[in-house]
Amino acid sequence: MNAHKYMTFFFFVFIFPAAINAEEVGKIESDTPIFDAHIHYSHDVWDAISAKEAIRRLREVGVKRALVSSSSDEGTQRLYQADPSFVVPVLRPYRKRGTIESWMYDETVIPYLKERLAKYRYAGIGELHIDGEQAYTPVMREIIRLAKKYQLILHVHSDAQAIKFIFEQYPGATILWAHAGFDYAVIVGKMMEQYPNLMADLSFRGEIINQGRLMKAWRILLTRHADRFLLGIDTYEPQRWLQIKNVMRWQRELLAVLPGEVARKIAYDNSLRITRLYDEMYNLPAE
Ligand SMILES: [Zn+2]
Repeated sequence: MNAHKYMTFFFFVFIFPAAINAEEVGKIESDTPIFDAHIHYSHDVWDAISAKEAIRRLREVGVKRALVSSSSDEGTQRLYQADPSFVVPVLRPYRKRGTIESWMYDETVIPYLKERLAKYRYAGIGELHIDGEQAYTPVMREIIRLAKKYQLILHVHSDAQAIKFIFEQYPGATILWAHAGFDYAVIVGKMMEQYPNLMADLSFRGEIINQGRLMKAWRILLTRHADRFLLGIDTYEPQRWLQIKNVMRWQRELLAVLPGEVARKIAYDNSLRITRLYDEMYNLPAE
């Protein structure tokens, strides 16, 4: 064996497996269980990835349970049928892609939601997109009324103003603010102080960690309000299902730089707490 061949042999036998282990074990298959708060299984992914395969991919990166909402709701029901202990269903007002700008003016949304609520079990309504005064459209008012009647979480992708307008109409609401409103830590912090039932998911907030360092304002916020934040992969389009491992890598990077107790709450316990009512009502295991 000449020197070059020897080095190649040495690399593959001794160094390469170590490199794989460090990455796979350390960052992807870490033991911290995740209760994901932001999964969609929408119509344009059903043919490419079966419900069973979708759940397998999520389990592979350590997701133990997930809040799932889909366009249309049939996606959520397919995933639920594949594994009822994994899926906590959330009812989305969208029947197909491309209605996020207009849905709040479409009054056919309400009979659709009522029909689904009569037929299936849910922990929430959403994820839905609104901004500012759209929180007061007749369709949105009716959704808030339904959330109150069925005691459902509202998963809302919006600015801070819309969140205020929902709490004005329903002060007892539990709102899960998608992506923490894409807002600054200082604004999110003020909102959390003003509204004790406001929760926020951190999906698509990778920018709060820069080269392994969590921004100071976010470290303070996540630690002070450790009971209020959740993780979410947000499989909003088919392509995103191919990026699950990368998304989980940054989420685990975030968990790794937080105090253990804070990390556990954000990874799992907070999702479990806001879905407790669903578990109690429908007798599912609340492990
Ligand atoms: Zn989403």
